[in-house]
Amino acid sequence: MNKENNNLMEKIVSLCKRRGFIYQGAEMYGGLSGTWDYGPLGAELKFNIEQLWWKRFVSSREDMYPISSSIIVPEAIWQASGHLESFTDPMVECEKCKKRFRADQLTDTKNCLECKGKLGSKKTFNLLFPVETGSTTEDTTRAYLRGELAQGMFVNFKNIIDSFHPKLPFGIAQIGKVFRNEINPRNFLFRVREFDLAEFEYFVKENEWEKWFEYWRKEMWNWIDDIGLSKDNVHELEVEEGDRAHYSKRTIDFEYDYPFGRKELYGLSYRTDYDLKNHKLYYLDDSTGKKFIPHVIEPTFGLGRTIFAILCESYHEDELNGEKRVFLKLPHTIAPVKVAVFPLLKNKPELVKKAREVHTSLKKDIPNIMFDDNGNIGKRYRRQDEIGTPYCITIDFDTLEDDTVTVRDRDSGEQKRVATSELLSSLSL
Ligand code: ATP
Repeated sequence: MNKENNNLMEKIVSLCKRRGFIYQGAEMYGGLSGTWDYGPLGAELKFNIEQLWWKRFVSSREDMYPISSSIIVPEAIWQASGHLESFTDPMVECEKCKKRFRADQLTDTKNCLECKGKLGSKKTFNLLFPVETGSTTEDTTRAYLRGELAQGMFVNFKNIIDSFHPKLPFGIAQIGKVFRNEINPRNFLFRVREFDLAEFEYFVKENEWEKWFEYWRKEMWNWIDDIGLSKDNVHELEVEEGDRAHYSKRTIDFEYDYPFGRKELYGLSYRTDYDLKNHKLYYLDDSTGKKFIPHVIEPTFGLGRTIFAILCESYHEDELNGEKRVFLKLPHTIAPVKVAVFPLLKNKPELVKKAREVHTSLKKDIPNIMFDDNGNIGKRYRRQDEIGTPYCITIDFDTLEDDTVTVRDRDSGEQKRVATSELLSSLSL
């Protein structure tokens, strides 16, 4: 990682903490590695991304069936899916300091990166988190926190067919938490032990898998565009056979140029009929009376990695009116705060009253609107720029005369006067 990129990473992590986007998990107790908590702005940003995703891939379509399946999943399912055996990473442990590393990410496989001690032999390490369910030792059942969402879709395949009788092709989608006991969590939200995924399994006839693979590949690019990632920073990687997951016959990774290097953002896999076959599931075509096993295309979107990429992409520094500033050029659709309303001076009750009125009237249509009368106006602009608020509206003495306000644009810093009656329609949100 070069110095400039290293700085970008530090600046983003620090902004996220300072402004209430993302905090280290369990920080007040020393922190728990591989966990992060979303603060008010981070939670809102994540929610907006989820909503956008849901609209694009679920609610605007007729072929997608949403579910929200259990996080605690019995051992039998992971046995059938092959995860007990194959959901592993190669691991080596330092004989001296006991630190563990992913063997496939080391260039020197003999000496510890931390203490230069001798590394032990390579072992396979299963990433699933085991949990015991049941209240007594006799009725305890071994289960695992889900390491992928997909099994939730597969084990509900028959339920969806029985309730909704979908015709092929159709998909089952969900957004939810996933848990992986990563050997070496690092790089902020990039490699963590608990993360949010948005994903669907799309069931097709075997002879149509290539057509649908290409279709979803294009749709993934459209999504990348929706969330404001530049196409120059996202790259497809055709994953070689030996590097693909155990269930995949073809995988394309969508990689992003993170500050620490080009790494996987999303994946698109052709899972064949591997999972449905292992769960002994099939599809009955009503028109022909034929039974067969559909094949599966799986686009998967890590939300933490999405948020991290969006933050890298939107972080900007420039100079406005002779002052340095930091601003997040977030797409308006996902910005956590859409508009901020200020009275020019906080000690002038008539300005505060009018600003409150404008705030209340806009809040009916723009729920994520903020009122701020703290500090001088320049500082308030800077604060909103730093969290990516697209518009700031200022109520001044002219407002009391002619019912117009100042609307300031985040990216250009330009200000224009707008009549309050036209305020809502003048904002593009
Ligand atoms: P990697 O090779 O980086 O470990 P993977 O190939 O195991 O990733 P998948 O199994 O394809 O990842 O997981 C689907 C998506 O989940 C990834 O595209 C990524 O967005 C996200 N993801 C996977 N592992 C993590 C993690 N440890 N932390 C955050 N997001 C993750």
